[in-house]
Amino acid sequence: ASFGFRDVPEAEKEKLVRGVFSSVAKNYDLMNDLMSGGVHRLWKDVFVGWLNPQPGWKCLDVAGGTGDIAFRIAGAVRKRGGEPDVTVCDINPDMLAEGQVRAEKKGETALTWVEGNAEHLPFADNSFDSYTIAFGIRNVTHIENALAEARRVLKPGGRFLCLEFSQVVVPGLDVLYDKFSFHLLPTIGEWVAKDRESYQYLVESIRRFPNQARFARMIEEAGLSQVKVRNLSGGISAMHSAWKI
Ligand code: SAM
Repeated sequence: ASFGFRDVPEAEKEKLVRGVFSSVAKNYDLMNDLMSGGVHRLWKDVFVGWLNPQPGWKCLDVAGGTGDIAFRIAGAVRKRGGEPDVTVCDINPDMLAEGQVRAEKKGETALTWVEGNAEHLPFADNSFDSYTIAFGIRNVTHIENALAEARRVLKPGGRFLCLEFSQVVVPGLDVLYDKFSFHLLPTIGEWVAKDRESYQYLVESIRRFPNQARFARMIEEAGLSQVKVRNLSGGISAMHSAWKI
């Protein structure tokens, strides 16, 4: 049955999201390529470029899934001659397991994989130089709890950086994008991954997520400072940067 995920009660959401990502874990790269036409790879490069991680940083990547951001951070730190220290935290053991397989294949040993919820991070206060979250925060039940946790685990002077689908700001592109995402995407998901509902969930979660300005305000309300926004591909995605002062 294709029911609307937006009608799911809050208490059910976490379980539901878990199911979605368990079901897509094996096809995760393919799913991202379908959803973004492959552009997510470039967005992630730009995202880690903006983070500009430095040798010596303790980095945390929340909702890190199969490690796309963490691998890039590790690469960037090595390029600068440093030894990377990156923790990937995700609520879903299947995504983490897939990430660990990828790490083994790449011979990447600098990552630590931790199961945990963005709303209750299993880390001490003031323990990371950077907190990243890419295409993760819209899946969290209470965004404000995740933001409060981001602030808590960051060291004073630490950097918050979020990459998320956002609101298209280019007239014309918005209509096209709407048509693509609402009608085409679940059908592609059904054909390719035999999983219409997971893709439908993803589309709906993108529509419900606050736009650039509203999300920026939420970050400020969580006590993070100097919020800056950069759109990617006309606002299909956006990056929000902030600091813990
Ligand atoms: N950051 C990775 C990337 O960009 O490729 C993965 C993004 S994937 C679309 C979303 C991830 O968020 C999934 O791995 C899912 O398990 C995770 N997730 C969902 N809710 C979460 C929560 N409350 N806490 C931590 N991770 C969560």
